[in-house]
Amino acid sequence: MERENILNSDQNICLHVDSESFAGAIIPPIYGNSLFTFNSYEDYVLGETNQQNKCVYWRGTNPTVEIAEKKLAALERGDTCKCFASGMAAITAAIFNSVKSGDHVLSVGNIYQSTDELLNYLQKFGVEHSTVFSVHIDDIRNAIRPNTSLIYIECPTDMNLQLVPLKKLASLAKDNGIRTIVDNTWATPLFQKPLIYGIDIVVHSASKYLGGHSDLVGGAIITSTEIMKTLFKKEYLLFGSSMGPYEASLLLRGLQTLPIRMKALQDSTMKIAQFLDKHPAIKRVHYPGLGQKQFSNETKHQLTGFSSLLTFELKNADHNTVKSVINKVKVFKIGVSWGGLESLIITPNLGHNEEELKKKNINPHIIRLSIGMEPSEDLINDLRNALGQ
Ligand SMILES: *Cc1c(COP(=O)(O)O)cnc(C)c1O
Repeated sequence: MERENILNSDQNICLHVDSESFAGAIIPPIYGNSLFTFNSYEDYVLGETNQQNKCVYWRGTNPTVEIAEKKLAALERGDTCKCFASGMAAITAAIFNSVKSGDHVLSVGNIYQSTDELLNYLQKFGVEHSTVFSVHIDDIRNAIRPNTSLIYIECPTDMNLQLVPLKKLASLAKDNGIRTIVDNTWATPLFQKPLIYGIDIVVHSASKYLGGHSDLVGGAIITSTEIMKTLFKKEYLLFGSSMGPYEASLLLRGLQTLPIRMKALQDSTMKIAQFLDKHPAIKRVHYPGLGQKQFSNETKHQLTGFSSLLTFELKNADHNTVKSVINKVKVFKIGVSWGGLESLIITPNLGHNEEELKKKNINPHIIRLSIGMEPSEDLINDLRNALGQ
């Protein structure tokens, strides 16, 4: 019993595979075959009619990918998982599964820009999209329309990193017959498990912490058996954006060190957030790890840890100040994406979109950091030099 408990801990889910299934191989083999053959016509028919659980063709099910899927489902405490070619592929499948023509999608606070664009693109198919720029449950309730079929959120929200009360959101949605999707990429399943609060679908970009080494683009959906039943047959098999076995092997390797990476990244990021929080050139730091002032009672226990993506707003700044800070850092590299071993700096301010950012409640003089594995003192010194005294 005790051993069972230990083996079911998140750390062990990340680390181990059932090597008995693979002749004792400590690392599971990469099944590089596109198709699987059958001993008889009867077996073939069984496979064809149950592609979710039987290996027939790579686009549906692959044993290497399946190992990663089982781990992610276990980490999120969900029934089932499918892995995709990218986070956007997973998000697209989850959204298409949740809407039809005439429906309305509500997003809460800021979400990943491509997801926002995807939801606006759905207008072409008669699906409306609106955003409520508040994480308070009463404001969310007021933004629901009679035809709202989906509430889509990131928790914490994009850029301003606000926490949405997941339990209240899930029950509000259930009361109104509305599906909920949470993008859990920031927290990873180690630090937040949205499904336990009644959220319907969790999506991930595996390109960030889950892969963890900036050498993989992938995504995942974790949900109930019931939702996955149609999602697999339609959005998974028909859109054809499944993860391949080579990517799955990188994902499995990344997952092995996920707990230890997240702990190291959290410790380092906390120090950097505290340094920035006290810096005179900075108006505000957005990082849930900075403490109680950023939490409501409803969200206090949602996160059991904090990852390494944070943002800060410059005081008395203009576009040139933002530009100069980014050009002055030497240890941080300038680049998109995040969640790898290298520290990155970026801003959504492209010089010509300040008004657009303000409409999304984003301070145009905001800078985003993804903290990596360099010594935190080096990163702090780098920021100190770039920010000036
Ligand atoms: C990167 C990212 C995505 C998109 O994932 P890709 O793997 O790049 O397609 C979605 N959501 C969040 C929060 C992300 O950071």
